[in-house]
Amino acid sequence: METVAIAGAGTMGSAISALFANAGYEVVLYDISRDALERAKSRNLKEHVVELEKAGLKKRERLENIVYTADLSDLSGCDLLLETIREDLSLKIDFFRKIAGVCKDALLATNTSSYMPSEISSGAGVNVFLFHFSNPPIEMPLVEISGEGDPSKLVEYAKSIGKKPVVLKKQCRGAVLNRMLCALGVSLGYSLKFASPYEIDASVKLFGFKYGVFEIFDRIGLDVSLDVLRSLEEAYQRFSSDFVKETLIQFVEAGKLGKKSGEGFYKWIGEELIAENVENYVDVTILLATIVNEAFRIIEDGIADKATVNEVWKLATLSPGVFDLADALGYENLFKALRRAFEETGIEVFKPAKSFASIDF
Ligand code: NAD
Repeated sequence: METVAIAGAGTMGSAISALFANAGYEVVLYDISRDALERAKSRNLKEHVVELEKAGLKKRERLENIVYTADLSDLSGCDLLLETIREDLSLKIDFFRKIAGVCKDALLATNTSSYMPSEISSGAGVNVFLFHFSNPPIEMPLVEISGEGDPSKLVEYAKSIGKKPVVLKKQCRGAVLNRMLCALGVSLGYSLKFASPYEIDASVKLFGFKYGVFEIFDRIGLDVSLDVLRSLEEAYQRFSSDFVKETLIQFVEAGKLGKKSGEGFYKWIGEELIAENVENYVDVTILLATIVNEAFRIIEDGIADKATVNEVWKLATLSPGVFDLADALGYENLFKALRRAFEETGIEVFKPAKSFASIDF
C-alpha cells in the first residue's frame, strides 16, 4: 500500500489525513506543533469519522492507520507528500527545501490557496503541483490540480479518496475557487454596510447555497481568510479593499477565528452554528454578480473554460454553479448591479470584465 504524508495538521491537513486513511493508504501526519497533532488525532477519532459517514465516503470504522509525528524524518519513503501548512510563501518554500532531502522519490503537492505551485517550486528547487481542496474537505468534492508536468497520478489519488478532480489549463495565484471567493469577500465587505451577515446568508440560501457566504468564511477560518486576502491583493490590485480587510483584522485581533475558535461572524458549538432569526431578506444581486464577474476574468486569463469554472463553484460549495446562478438571475441584471456598485464605490472588483461588458444583452 502506498504511503501518503501530509504536512500541517490544522483544519485542512487533519481532515485530508482522514480522507487518505479512510481510503486505505498508510498515512503520516506531520506538524511542528504537538498540540496541533493532538487536536488532529482527536478529530480523526471522532468528528472526521462522522463527516466521512455523512459524505457517503466511509470505508473504515476507525482511522487507526495514521502516524502522528513532529519528526520530519518520519516522512521519508512516502509516495505522495501534500503540504498543508500555514499560508506563507517563505514558510512553504523553506519546508519544501527541507523535505527535498527527506522525500527523495515522492510526488510533491501543495494545498496553497493563493500562491502558484511554480513559485514554491522555483524557490525550493523541486517540482510541486497544486492539489487544492475546498473546505470542509471531507464534504466538498472539489480538488483543483495544476502544475508543471503530467497530473494524471494526482487525478488518480483524488479519485481514490472519493473526490472530483479538476485539472486547470494554467496556473495562477488563487487558482479558480479562491479568485472567486476573494472577489466575493470584497463584495461582502461592501454589503455589510446595508445588511447583517445573517440576513445576507439567509438571502443567498434562497438561491440554493448550501452554506451562507459568511458561514463559508467562518469555516475557512478568518485568520486563513485574511492571509489569503493579503496574498491575493498583492497579486490582483482589484482585491485591495479596506471594507473587508478591516473587518477581518478586527475579528482576528480579538481571537475570533471562526468555527475553529468557537466564534467568528457566528458563534459555534462544535459543528453547529448559532444563527439569529432573520426577518428581512436582502438583495444579494451584487454579491452573485461579483462572483460571476471574476469567473469571466478567469476564463479571459485562460485558466479554465466556462464549463470548468461553473463546475468548480458547484463542487466547492454544493450550490448551483456560478453560471447557473447567472442564468437564473439574468446577465443584464448582474451587469447593471456591477456598474452601479463600481460607479458608487470606484472599487475595481465591481468593474465589469471585458468579456462581460462585450455581451450584447
Ligand atoms: P491551519 O492554520 O488550520 O493549520 C496550519 C498548520 O500548519 C498548523 O497546525 C501549524 O502548526 C502548521 N505549521 C505551520 N508551520 C509549519 C511548518 N513549518 N511545518 C509543519 N507544520 C507547520 O491552516 P489550514 O486552514 O489547515 O490551511 C492550511 C493550508 O491549506 C494553507 O495553505 C491554506 O491556505 C490552505 N487551504 C485552506 C483552506 C481553508 O478553508 N482553511 C482551504 C483550502 C486550502
